[in-house]
Amino acid sequence: MTHTSVAAYAAPAPKAPLERITIPRRALGAHDILIEIKYAGICHSDIHTVRAEWGDGGNFPIVPGHEIAGVVAEVGAEVTRYRAGDRVGVGCFVDSCRECENCRAGLQQYCTGDLGMVGTYNATGRDGETTHGGYSTHLVIDENYALRIPESIPLDAAAPLLCAGITLYSPLAHWKAGPGRKVAVVGLGGLGHMGVKIAHAMGAEVTVLSQSLRKKDDGLRLGADHYYATSDPATFEQLAGTFDLIVNTVSADLDLNAYVGLLRTDGTLVQLGAPERPLPVAPFALIPQRRSIAGSMIGGIPETQEMLDFCGEHGLAADIEVISADRINEAYERVLASDVRYRFVIDASTI
Ligand SMILES: [Zn+2]
Ligand SMILES: [Zn+2]
Repeated sequence: MTHTSVAAYAAPAPKAPLERITIPRRALGAHDILIEIKYAGICHSDIHTVRAEWGDGGNFPIVPGHEIAGVVAEVGAEVTRYRAGDRVGVGCFVDSCRECENCRAGLQQYCTGDLGMVGTYNATGRDGETTHGGYSTHLVIDENYALRIPESIPLDAAAPLLCAGITLYSPLAHWKAGPGRKVAVVGLGGLGHMGVKIAHAMGAEVTVLSQSLRKKDDGLRLGADHYYATSDPATFEQLAGTFDLIVNTVSADLDLNAYVGLLRTDGTLVQLGAPERPLPVAPFALIPQRRSIAGSMIGGIPETQEMLDFCGEHGLAADIEVISADRINEAYERVLASDVRYRFVIDASTI
């Protein structure tokens, strides 16, 4: 079998508007599944990448999209995990070395092998070809890198779980958000709104720390117990030494020392957003209360499945605004202006 051509939306060059093109998808291998994409979420990383803001150039044209929900259309000869018609998702990676310690432990996102984690777009796959993401009608992927989407979650609202959902679920699970634990979510955007929902469902006491009180009603509706404005200096005095865990979803420059001061003894601040410049940390913000600053990146395949199942059981999904593909460029501008509650999702039938 040869490649098939499918429709997609791509950025032809850095900072250029996205436009409709056709791209090749590889022929179905023995362990591959062909997914008919139904919805693709718009993640802030998509925008960084097509604007070449992360300094790693890029293989243009770039077809972004790593929050993918769809239905299996066809399976390869030796596929055992999926059948045509199954509801599936694809997240931020489509392959990894499969042999390193991390891959064997199900932590494919931290693959240390030569192949490394193969990003869903703008990466080089095992076959040497550039990967193309979810802003397209179809995708071919090895069955071991797809996820099963529970029946109880609508596919459009499920799509953002594949990046935003797992980005928050993994640190919340790892640092044990749960009953008796106080968790702060910094920033109430696409990531933060999932953080509030998941931390609340895990049983933690959840506080939103947002620049202003503009989205306070939303925050409380999503499951937050408390909501504070970080533009008010009193917030940092009132909440000093409060939290077991702070997840920072903001990629803008923040005074991390002020936030570290909100941690109680042995508390951890987990950095999820990636600002362009380094964040200065004063050692004495950490030393006196044995505080930690950590990083976390998405989740492996087993944990991503665990997250989807957790969301299915607890009735969680993203708050979304579904758009047609011809509105992607407009949606990018609105994401940059924080004018979305809380995730744009592209209806792939309009591509
Ligand atoms: Zn993402
Ligand atoms: Zn590996």
